[in-house]
Amino acid sequence: MEKNALKIDIEGNLYDCFISKKKISRIIMKVNALLQINISCPLIFSQSKCLDFIDKNSEWLKTTIKERREIYNKMHVVECLERKGIWLKGKYYNFQYSNNNILYLFDKNNLYIPKKQIIDKTFIEKLRKPFYNEIENMFNSFKTIYSNIIPNDTILTFKRLKTKWGSCNYKKNIIVINKALVSVPDEILQFVFIHEFVHFIFPNHGIKFKEKLNSLLPNYKVLEKELKNYNFLLEKGVF
Ligand SMILES: [Zn+2]
Repeated sequence: MEKNALKIDIEGNLYDCFISKKKISRIIMKVNALLQINISCPLIFSQSKCLDFIDKNSEWLKTTIKERREIYNKMHVVECLERKGIWLKGKYYNFQYSNNNILYLFDKNNLYIPKKQIIDKTFIEKLRKPFYNEIENMFNSFKTIYSNIIPNDTILTFKRLKTKWGSCNYKKNIIVINKALVSVPDEILQFVFIHEFVHFIFPNHGIKFKEKLNSLLPNYKVLEKELKNYNFLLEKGVF
């Protein structure tokens, strides 16, 4: 697969644009939560043909970037990428350095960490650990509440997933939860769990699946939309 990177000017701002040539029959353009433009095009397409396509769809691109940028700003995506802050349980915290050696200390909107602490994957995992335990406890209490839907021997595992928040293996009785869900509020987490539980009855997202989900969680559409705000956490380089 060939991949080409360029910068595109949209209303005075430069955006990364990646063009990948694939064995497909038509061109597809997407904007991700990091405001990167991804274009997949057929192998025979030349760069100028792609640029032509971007030009023809510039209005769509402008509107989409504008929409995404609102969420991008609201969710402190830049700060998260620069490791200046973190989302935990639906709350955003700024990292602040302290003079003591306490591993971490929450205070209002700040998370105090020792001066020499490097904010890397290992450290973030340490921060998240107690929250994984909380999610596990939540799952165990749900198992009792929804015992008529989920088999008693269902187990929960955490994974770093790049395209989805959770999955349900209804044949093996395993529910996989995206590790990034430590960042969302409890009610959204509950929505993800119930969504996965319903898969034990209906494997696909058909009308019956939605009806069942709605009967268990009447405001699920609101929560589903709110979860989309956190989509940037699924992108490469974010944690
Ligand atoms: Zn599903």
